[in-house]
Amino acid sequence: MERLDGEAGKETDMSEKPTRRQFLGRAGAIALGGLASTKLPGQTAPADLMIVNARIHTMDSGNRIVSQALIQNGRFTAVGDRLPTPPRNVRRVDLKGKTVIPGIIDGHNHIVLVGNRPGWNTPLEHVFTIPDAIAALKARSAEVPAGEIISTVGPVSAMQFAERRLPSLAELDAVNRPVYIQAAQGGARANSQCKAWLETRGVTVGADGAIAGRDLNAALLALRKELLNAQTRKRGAHDALRYYAGLGITTHRDCGAFHSEALSGGLANENTYTMHDPFLALHREGRMPARLRIEFLHQDPPNANPPLPTLSQRLKNSFPFFGDEWIRTGGIGEFTGGGTEGLRAIARAGWRAEDHALNLAMVTKLIQDRETVNAEIPLNGLRWIISHVPEFPPDLANRMDAMGMGVLIGWGPLRTPTPTNANLGPPYRMLMNHKIHKGYHSDGGDITLINPWLNFSTMTTGLNLAGQQILGDQKISRQEALWLATAANKWFIEEDDLGSIETGNRADLAVLDRDCFTVSDEDFRRTRSLLTLVGGNAVHNDGVL
Ligand SMILES: [Zn+2]
Repeated sequence: MERLDGEAGKETDMSEKPTRRQFLGRAGAIALGGLASTKLPGQTAPADLMIVNARIHTMDSGNRIVSQALIQNGRFTAVGDRLPTPPRNVRRVDLKGKTVIPGIIDGHNHIVLVGNRPGWNTPLEHVFTIPDAIAALKARSAEVPAGEIISTVGPVSAMQFAERRLPSLAELDAVNRPVYIQAAQGGARANSQCKAWLETRGVTVGADGAIAGRDLNAALLALRKELLNAQTRKRGAHDALRYYAGLGITTHRDCGAFHSEALSGGLANENTYTMHDPFLALHREGRMPARLRIEFLHQDPPNANPPLPTLSQRLKNSFPFFGDEWIRTGGIGEFTGGGTEGLRAIARAGWRAEDHALNLAMVTKLIQDRETVNAEIPLNGLRWIISHVPEFPPDLANRMDAMGMGVLIGWGPLRTPTPTNANLGPPYRMLMNHKIHKGYHSDGGDITLINPWLNFSTMTTGLNLAGQQILGDQKISRQEALWLATAANKWFIEEDDLGSIETGNRADLAVLDRDCFTVSDEDFRRTRSLLTLVGGNAVHNDGVL
């Protein structure tokens, strides 16, 4: 809905009145020089490219599939099948029939937590056996100085491995570095070198390398205390964004962390006032491998005295939708805090708000509270969001839609069916047929996985990573899943020039290593990107350029 570049040829959504965010967003972009710039700060503009002989799934309103795209100064300047010969300085790239999709937008995750993990954090979301995990950790050790700790903290799970367990101490000993793996669910594992490191710091580690209970907290706290500093956090932020760029993600909408101003042993805890610093540092150096959109999570208790101690200061002292094309702030979420008083304050300030719902009672209460506030301060146009919505009957979708709200869905591959319930939701099929705004989110980074292909796999097969059916009759097609993660997420990041391959849009795309629309389900979940462009910049290139 927001156009910053003044280019013609695209529709502007006039159905909603302009909000404060549009003025602030525009001012922010101009102030920070984001108006037309697609190059990384401090660098020259990306090379102009003409992609030919590709299968480009544009995700435009007609879902066109075309073979050519011209990229100039970081934007698509022509998209079609018989484009005129470009100027001589444009590099021609023959993709030999490869599949291209718009850069994936994760509408809600916790990438900032992943970027602040202690140690040489090494995501393992693309491997499905323990030998492959060990091979990935060994490969990583080549860039890690002797004695320094390799870690995998958060988005890793016993369920993803064919062995249905985490690697053991003996298996991890094949890596000649201290190794620490802490799963989103199911404890942690150390190898012998890391066991020794932890034990000298008072952490109990089992003979098999297992760490559990209170020791889990103590282990993560010790790692954070000794291994985190501005430099290592910046390295971690860069590694995290680069890893997911290799899976095709070009935009992350981060939804915060539990507040801990002091270092904490909690997986989902961080200092929410400083945890963005490593990303801001990367941005200053012109080294962002993806776009970051920042939400501010607040946890003020209802009826606090004074009321809304942190939220009121946030609304007074910071800017929503401020920044440039690489890093930009958004609204309040994924917790608003402060009960209906908090919602009133956010609505009065004209900000966006998001809360998550874990069950029917929770989403029902969230909607009731919003209806109460909406009767006093109209929410339409503010694009308020509720995420996860595992249980979500159509009448609740109707009520949210009436207030101009949207839902973010995804959040599936690690969930397990119960003896009485194998339909865990969310109801993707119902939502695809409903007019409410919906988009894709992984919610990954602390309690689940960010890898979009594992999330899409569950959305399209109904199977969790252990191969159990959890969606009943609510599966959707691959085209629908990809659409939710690209064009549909324009609405949630409030940027119309991302999420589809169309003339005038920013040149964010992924050239895939397989045709994700036709391969088998088993091959589908192993999809990776060969070339990822963000604003025309090659942020991941596996031999294509
Ligand atoms: Zn979340």
